Amino acid sequence: MDSSAASVTHQNGTMTTSKALCILSGGQDSTTCTAIACQQFDAVHAITFDYKQRHAIEIDSAVAIAKAFDLASHEILTLGRILNGTSPLVSNQPLGQYTSTAELPGGVEPTFVPARNILFLTLAANRAAVLGIHDIFIGVCEADFAGYYDCRQVFVDAMAVALGEGIWGQPDALRIHTPLMQLTKAESVALAVDILGDRFPSVFVHTHTCYAGIKGGCGQCHACLIRDRGFREAGVVDPIWQFRSSPVN
Ligand code: ZN
Repeated sequence: MDSSAASVTHQNGTMTTSKALCILSGGQDSTTCTAIACQQFDAVHAITFDYKQRHAIEIDSAVAIAKAFDLASHEILTLGRILNGTSPLVSNQPLGQYTSTAELPGGVEPTFVPARNILFLTLAANRAAVLGIHDIFIGVCEADFAGYYDCRQVFVDAMAVALGEGIWGQPDALRIHTPLMQLTKAESVALAVDILGDRFPSVFVHTHTCYAGIKGGCGQCHACLIRDRGFREAGVVDPIWQFRSSPVN
């Protein structure tokens, strides 16, 4: 456990509650991050961004997940279409369809939304400052999304310094936790199962990953293929598979 996370009992007997803020998209990684934060901190707050993403169903997922974790607060920040561009996630561009992970293109995925995590971390840091929080969790991961520049640790470290300096006047005032950074999807699934135990299916049934916005997943977009492979490799049945029209192999 992060030593910064424990509650502190002062000499006069009063206790300081440790607090963290999670960026909760409603997907599998941010849900796992929230589970980790709930393990390490007394009070966990969450923030979700509505940027008119194609898979807006994930906002409903985030609401259900926040309730399942009984979070201290959950704010949905409506940003409108300010991230609109070429990514099929925020435009009418066709979404790539693949039959297996072997078909996925290398390099930067067409779904990359420039500056998305810069904006999200900046707004989260604003809310953290308002709430008196110095610990933010974000479910970015280098292992499976090598093409997204704003999912790399070097980017997160740079943002932490910039926001710490810009909001508190200190380079180390803000800690941005990225517990999934080096995990494969299979390792991430195993970790979530380990933390949540019997609660895993009832929490993860609410998670949404599919870029096409199909409940239970389309099984053919980049996000679905990576998620399906992770669950298969972990030997865990994904609770959302019950919604698929065709069986998952
Ligand atoms: Zn999909």
